[in-house]
Amino acid sequence: MLTLVQVGIGKIRNGVACAIRTATVVTNFIPRASLIQINVASWSNHYLAAQIASSFSRSEIGMATDDNRKTPPQNDLGRRDMLKGAFAGAAAVGIVAAEPTSAQAQARDAMPKSPYGGGPSTGLQFPPYYKPTPSVRSRNNYFPGSETLGPDEMRISFVGSCPFPPRRDQAGTCIMVELGNGDRFFFDFGPGCVKNILAMGVSVPEINDIFITHLHVDHYHDLSYLLPFSAWAGRWKMPLRVTGPSGRTPDLGTKAMVASMKQMLKWHLEAFDACPIGDGYEVEVNEFDWKDENGICYDKNGVTIRHWRRSHVKDGASAYRLDWNGLSFVWTGDGRPDDLTAKYAKGVDVFVTETQPDLARINQLKYGLPEFLFNYTVDIHHTLTYATGYLIKQVNPRCGMVTHLAFDNDTLNETSADVRAHWDGLFLYGAPDVVVVNVTKDAIWHREAALPGFSGQALPKPTLLFGDPLPIATGMGVVPQPRLPREQQQEQLTRDLEIDPHKYYPPDVYREPLTKLPNPQLVDLREMAKVMNIDLAKFVK
Ligand SMILES: [Zn+2]
Ligand SMILES: [Zn+2]
Repeated sequence: MLTLVQVGIGKIRNGVACAIRTATVVTNFIPRASLIQINVASWSNHYLAAQIASSFSRSEIGMATDDNRKTPPQNDLGRRDMLKGAFAGAAAVGIVAAEPTSAQAQARDAMPKSPYGGGPSTGLQFPPYYKPTPSVRSRNNYFPGSETLGPDEMRISFVGSCPFPPRRDQAGTCIMVELGNGDRFFFDFGPGCVKNILAMGVSVPEINDIFITHLHVDHYHDLSYLLPFSAWAGRWKMPLRVTGPSGRTPDLGTKAMVASMKQMLKWHLEAFDACPIGDGYEVEVNEFDWKDENGICYDKNGVTIRHWRRSHVKDGASAYRLDWNGLSFVWTGDGRPDDLTAKYAKGVDVFVTETQPDLARINQLKYGLPEFLFNYTVDIHHTLTYATGYLIKQVNPRCGMVTHLAFDNDTLNETSADVRAHWDGLFLYGAPDVVVVNVTKDAIWHREAALPGFSGQALPKPTLLFGDPLPIATGMGVVPQPRLPREQQQEQLTRDLEIDPHKYYPPDVYREPLTKLPNPQLVDLREMAKVMNIDLAKFVK
């Protein structure tokens, strides 16, 4: 006897759950020669259907697309009758017919296909351009410092990838974009990102050109850490450059945030003023009007960065698009799926947006907060996974990516499935820390960085410390004078409490403590280069 079981998948989540249950039940009862047909709402659901189908190991599986689903019911009956005719004999003796029938051929035509064409062993979602760029040396991991970007190449590194709570494997959101012309940019600067940036081989004083999407602290927290320490660590001659949106009132904009941050840091900044700082506390804030649509906020060295406003509960949230040398990158920051993003990100090479799975019930179990709180928060702030797929589809990039998500093993499949409800092109995760994506016109390649657990700071360029060009004529680098020596910010009676160094120094290595710098404090550049074994000529233009 032939039984036809039809399982329809409408909404992915409920549909799959329902389909799996049905499938489990029916496989226990149906005879060997039964035909199971699984209707699939869209191409992207096919693999889910295939998962269900795999449970029907003794059965014939037919898959139908949207088009088939639109077929009137009487046709389904007709097909059943036809199949009955084709299989009845074989089924009667418990054997499934081996010869393909027109119905089987039809079903085969309806099977999922790679949107790029492709062939065996290339997967369903990988386009032919998913391959290492010429500069890639180790194809599975990026080892910082081991590769030179090609002149026509962009490298995107997710040096922070989460919203809240921060995790051991995920710092606050920050995307480092490096270009073949030597330029480097940071998009957002969330808590903990500096640690990863250092491990990527970038010295602290070289971290600059920071573009903040909005002033939620998971997007800028490490600025307060960077400012004093990069100034101390040698960014003596150069301001920190920060770009960000204005707010509805002046006190809500990026400029006001930086000013207030300096106030928050007042004790720290003054304390460090006992050391050489020079211009290191200067912050060049480029605040643009949050209302601008596709305004240019950076245009230098062939790089253009544009911005547009986003709906993220409070005015003053923006997205950025970087264009350089025919390559482009978008980071939407946080926000609801919107038409401006669909418009201004259109056709970008790498489109990065945020995503939140529609899993309030699961989140309640995980985080112990009521279900409504997750739904409410997401629905006024964020992009749900379904909307992420929809937005990526509108933008139609060469590569769609998500970051700013909890990279939880159990919910990733859900996120992928939801995104796939709309987007069947290349889709990659910009999480956990540190995912690295190399991009050229011909290739896109995704790896994880292999980072040292005990990374120190890479050497800053001497030009950062002593000026560009280096004062080669005199050969002497001039160090900024401390503005607030300790005598001016500490009582003598506090210093009197210090233990006499003679008591702890072994006499043969005794060194008189250096508590005052000469004025001027000079550094012999050649001598320093010799000691450090670096070639100064590399830094002379
Ligand atoms: Zn955020
Ligand atoms: Zn936010």
